[in-house]
Amino acid sequence: MTLIATSFILLAAAVQATNLRALTVPHECTINAIALLQIPGEAPLANEVEYGCDDGSGLFSPLHLDEIQQKSLQGLAANGQVHYGKSKINVHGATITTPSGKPISAEAKNKENAFNKFISAELDNIENALRRRTNSKASKRHFLLFRVTDSEGRVIDDSPDVMSDNVFGTNGDQINLKTQLAACSAGQYIVIPGARPPFDISDLQSARGVIDIELDISLHNSRADVRNAAISKAQEVMALKFNFSDTTSLTTYADHTLFSLENCYKDCGWAAYASIGGYYQGSYYSMAGIQMHEHGHNLGLPHSGGLDGLAYTDHTCSMGNPLYGDDLGQMCFNPAKLWQLQHFPHPWTVKRGWYNSTEDFFTVDTSSGSQVYEMIGIGEYRFQQESSRKAVALRIIVPGGRDQYIAFNSAKGANTQNVEADNLVTIVEWNTTSGYSPSSLKGYIAQGETFLLGHGLTVTAQCINTSLTPSVACVCVKESSQTCPSDCACTAPMHHK
Ligand SMILES: [Zn+2]
Repeated sequence: MTLIATSFILLAAAVQATNLRALTVPHECTINAIALLQIPGEAPLANEVEYGCDDGSGLFSPLHLDEIQQKSLQGLAANGQVHYGKSKINVHGATITTPSGKPISAEAKNKENAFNKFISAELDNIENALRRRTNSKASKRHFLLFRVTDSEGRVIDDSPDVMSDNVFGTNGDQINLKTQLAACSAGQYIVIPGARPPFDISDLQSARGVIDIELDISLHNSRADVRNAAISKAQEVMALKFNFSDTTSLTTYADHTLFSLENCYKDCGWAAYASIGGYYQGSYYSMAGIQMHEHGHNLGLPHSGGLDGLAYTDHTCSMGNPLYGDDLGQMCFNPAKLWQLQHFPHPWTVKRGWYNSTEDFFTVDTSSGSQVYEMIGIGEYRFQQESSRKAVALRIIVPGGRDQYIAFNSAKGANTQNVEADNLVTIVEWNTTSGYSPSSLKGYIAQGETFLLGHGLTVTAQCINTSLTPSVACVCVKESSQTCPSDCACTAPMHHK
């Protein structure tokens, strides 16, 4: 909780009088970002990311930043001076100022959270594996899904039972948030529907993990007002049950909360949205790919841009524009995101990462010669063996900050429904110190192909073998004067039980 010491917004085009509404913004609040998911084919959203301020009581105030202010904020976030969800800023009435006194405008108040679903025939295997494992580091996370009815009776058509199944797989749904997070993490990240102990919601829930709430306003209000009304009502319902204050945060009861709305009537074009601390969702709640994308934001992952330079178009990664369909979503993450999902805390990792930091991730150093790595696709991470571990992601430190990441994008297992660069070696660029800035896919190579990394390095996919379980690739990174060894043939399967 550091107070921002630099001038948050250098200039400040003073706040226009028209923005100065009477607002109930607190004197100090936590800066946060909300990432919106554009519905393909609908009118483009004005902003891919919205900024806001969390006063700590559960309410979230959108911030209206002009272009220069946005750039300034993004720059501070990029160089680590601002951490969304952590850094605090000072607020005075309708304006928000940093310690240096430059104003920006704020709107109303609010805060949120939300969630959704996906398929996996592999969940039994994963949970069995989890049961067998001793000293498991598995992270168990409790989720609540609030099924919202507005003041005029609008509520999603799906029954609470269907919703519970679509998100948590409580009645046989094949692909959902629970199954896919378990699949991508090889059982290291487990979604549990319901409140965490000791909070017993059995007489509050309308289906496992699902609680119905009724708003005091209609869905025709602004996105922020609807979000705040939903948060407030959810807090009220939980507080009444457990004798807490109405302002007690929902995170007291569960790790993550999601809200399902019947539809969007104002500020639309989004399928779902999330802040770093949680997300919120429309009628797209049942789609596993969207659940994964939004929960990725909850964890702290930014978007994944594609070859065309656009924000969401890396389709090798759930943080691109995801798959749209109830049982679509068997896709994990690109190597920059995998890097963020290591379980050891580093400045670049998210809080609840699960991948084995020391044995699966490598920073490439060619100072003593070319480097060859046997790599496994993240979709088959559950086949990773202690005795013969393969690399999951490589990082190449690039002077100037745009580091490069390499992975084998095997389209198997948890990554079966991947739709770009199947079974190829992918190269992604991301500034490791930049927190919430998007990554960008730079290219991919097939067996025998070489990609020019720049700064004197190339990467070659020496061999790729998808007939093994797991599939394996050998990847060589070298300087131009160096030679790749020829003894990596991708023929030796890893042994697994
Ligand atoms: Zn997003």
